[in-house]
Amino acid sequence: MNFSLFTRTGLLLAACLFASALRAEALPAKADIEAALNAAYAKYKALQEGANADYIPALAKVDPNIYGIALVTPEGKIYTAGDVKSEVSIQSISKVFTMALVMDESGPESIFNNMGVDATGQVFNSIVAIEQYKGAQMNPLVNAGAITATSMVKGSSREEIWNKILNHYNDFAGRELSVNKEVFESEAATNQRNQAIAELMYAYGHIKGDPDQATDIYTEQCSVNVNARDLAVMAATLANGGRNPITGKQVMKQENVAEVMAVMATAGLYDDSGQWLYLTGLPAKSGVGGGIIAVSPGRFGIAVISPPLDAAGNSVRAQKAIADISNALGGNPYEVAPVK
Ligand code: GLN
Repeated sequence: MNFSLFTRTGLLLAACLFASALRAEALPAKADIEAALNAAYAKYKALQEGANADYIPALAKVDPNIYGIALVTPEGKIYTAGDVKSEVSIQSISKVFTMALVMDESGPESIFNNMGVDATGQVFNSIVAIEQYKGAQMNPLVNAGAITATSMVKGSSREEIWNKILNHYNDFAGRELSVNKEVFESEAATNQRNQAIAELMYAYGHIKGDPDQATDIYTEQCSVNVNARDLAVMAATLANGGRNPITGKQVMKQENVAEVMAVMATAGLYDDSGQWLYLTGLPAKSGVGGGIIAVSPGRFGIAVISPPLDAAGNSVRAQKAIADISNALGGNPYEVAPVK
């Protein structure tokens, strides 16, 4: 080895060590994470705000006291507080992972060109938002865009499409998930509004195949059962560039993760997304089953389940607990110290 190569190697090594030291310093310590989770759990345990979703009859029957918090780091460390075993239906959080599947299969431009990536400023199942731009200039995290995204998953039969979607969710969660049949049947019997949304998206040319099949598969994907730990692993997979930190499997293309998180940031909590981003800086996604996931890129994925929702359809406790925990751990990616 000549001197200059030796010097260069040494410099490179020093730079790597410095970078990893910086990163290690930026990652919150175990005791801080545990303290933040326990504090948020205790602070909101007795909170009685909000109400279960009831427009899907089966959701009204879910125990409103289920309350669990889980945080998973890119290194695969899992921290929990409260009930992380009880399962609720994933609902709209599923939209994130179907969006990721479509982007991986058909390229990120497929989403961008078909339903767009703009916030609607309307409720998640808004018809007005479709009418405004004939089904364009919205995003895959509201119902119209999400049902359209589901219709874009490739497959020659319903079964093939469904299995692909479920396996994709399984990869994110790192275990085999199952469908809550009661919730699926309950929503399938009462989802006339979503059927209308799909028909409109078909009429405007965004859904190319059978809109009824797209709504049916979408309804089933929303009925997949998850606990807070599953959701946190799914969120941590996004925080870790698409690699599941528990199983080590790369479950989506790394190059698409940033775009998925961008849409979560602008539209993940529907028309309250701006408020949420202002308070936390975190890409996130809520579901009417009571779950919310949030991602601090490179640092952690977090999830809270608590069924009572606010008027926008977002879990009250989950929003408060995640905001407290993330802010306590310096999770806001926009928060930077000036260079000295
Ligand atoms: N399955 C629900 C619906 O389509 C999901 C909505 C949500 O979680 N916001 O209405």
